[in-house]
Amino acid sequence: MTLQTRKVLKIVHPQTVMEGAGVRLKRSFPTNDLDYPDPFLLFDHFGSDDPEDYLAGFPMHPHRGIETVTYMLAGAVTHRDSIGNAGTIGAGDVQWMTAGGGIMHEEMPQPVEGAMEGFQLWVNLPARLKMSRPRYQEISADQVPAIQREDGVTLRVIAGTWGGVAGPVVGIAADPVYLDVSVPVQSSFIYPVARGHTTLAYLFRGKAAFSGESVTAAGAETSAPAMILFEDGDQVMVQTGAAAARFLLLSGLPDNEPIVRYGPFVMNTREEIRQALQDLRNGTFVWKE
Ligand code: MN
Repeated sequence: MTLQTRKVLKIVHPQTVMEGAGVRLKRSFPTNDLDYPDPFLLFDHFGSDDPEDYLAGFPMHPHRGIETVTYMLAGAVTHRDSIGNAGTIGAGDVQWMTAGGGIMHEEMPQPVEGAMEGFQLWVNLPARLKMSRPRYQEISADQVPAIQREDGVTLRVIAGTWGGVAGPVVGIAADPVYLDVSVPVQSSFIYPVARGHTTLAYLFRGKAAFSGESVTAAGAETSAPAMILFEDGDQVMVQTGAAAARFLLLSGLPDNEPIVRYGPFVMNTREEIRQALQDLRNGTFVWKE
């Protein structure tokens, strides 16, 4: 059987938006170009040389019905929440936070040696888990397997597997893949993904071709920053020419359920959103046994 390389369905160039108390972000979705690559709800790339772009941060705010995944390249995000967790997400660290039935938290970006850069991904929870117990997976940089291939490709496996090496994030309904891949010049990277799983690449450094067509074909290369959404298939193929590339590879099982979004809440019905707002007003929002 021939493995089918996924074609590119859509390339989205992120839009600059302001979020939280005044944080400048590059948002790939939801945007006018890409709304909901089920099960992924939101993808933001943040980072700046100017702390004024982010120091206002994300003061205490609620979440319900989703997971928020923070991965830092530089700087740090200090956080604390309504159930007593507090800590710092530093360079190379990952926080996979399952908000479930309700959490309040604060996320404050900080520079380290002048730098701050990272990503936040929101993953939908299926209806059966929307009101589940909140859960954190706090993963330090040294717990993320770092693979160095002989051909110069390097990757960090946050979720999913590569060559039998499993990432540290486990027990997530979306069965996610989350890789940070660096491909040197004139090289290629092929990764098998489950058929039917929504698959995206976020190119944040350099240039690469994602279509499976030759990197030398006219218009084959995409430049960072860009979010690439793939058609269905068995594998993705990334090729570089004169420039190196670094990208996140994201894949997950779609929920195929109706969703209703209202800011930091994503539920299945309008009634459930109304309930979340009422719980906030009543002081009963945060999940309890
Ligand atoms: Mn948050």
